[in-house]
Amino acid sequence: MIKLTPILLAVLYGLLVYRFSAWRTARELDSRSTELADPRLRTILARMAKALDIERIRVHIYEIDPVNGLAAPDGRIFLTRGFYRKYQNGEVSANELASVIAHELGHVALGHSRRRMIDFSGQNALRAALGMVIARIIPGIGFVIANALTSLLSARLSRADEYEADAYASALLVKSGIGTGPQKSLFRKLEALTGARAGAAPAWLLSHPKTDERVAAIEANERRWQVEPHSS
Ligand SMILES: [Zn+2]
Repeated sequence: MIKLTPILLAVLYGLLVYRFSAWRTARELDSRSTELADPRLRTILARMAKALDIERIRVHIYEIDPVNGLAAPDGRIFLTRGFYRKYQNGEVSANELASVIAHELGHVALGHSRRRMIDFSGQNALRAALGMVIARIIPGIGFVIANALTSLLSARLSRADEYEADAYASALLVKSGIGTGPQKSLFRKLEALTGARAGAAPAWLLSHPKTDERVAAIEANERRWQVEPHSS
């Protein structure tokens, strides 16, 4: 029992961190966001909602500059003001922006957004517990090893999530009659943007796997589903 105490404490700590970060995230998003009201995007969102057999898809604009899309733990979808601005200047098309929304919807539908927050606090707990156990065997660098192991595990998990969310988005875009063209062209655009201004990579791209590999995975799905990439 005494040996288990540090692990129980670590788990308890993880739970507390989870509750707190979910609450803080929701509060931050509430205070700095408004609902998206663009008529052209609304029309596209209505088509996607119909394909999903739901009443409507709500999207919020989060008032920050970095180009990003996100799914909150409570299931709400956000686009940053920076991303929306790219659409307003014509750098990103309405269908391309819709592909980001479809990707984020995938994270929600597949339970990633909730799990990620749990992952984050779970990781802290795992790191602490693992560190204590390994530190007893290898004093000194036990925590370093625990850290490396936990990071490796979470990187693998989030990569898998991205491919799943992409596949969900492809399926939804095809079913809505939009096709996967905008999904792929957006990746290319964001990548070009990264190349043009080194060090200014869009956050949305940074947190995701390599563009070429993502496009290849989308195309592999298309072949599997036997759909014409540009049929509408
Ligand atoms: Zn993602």
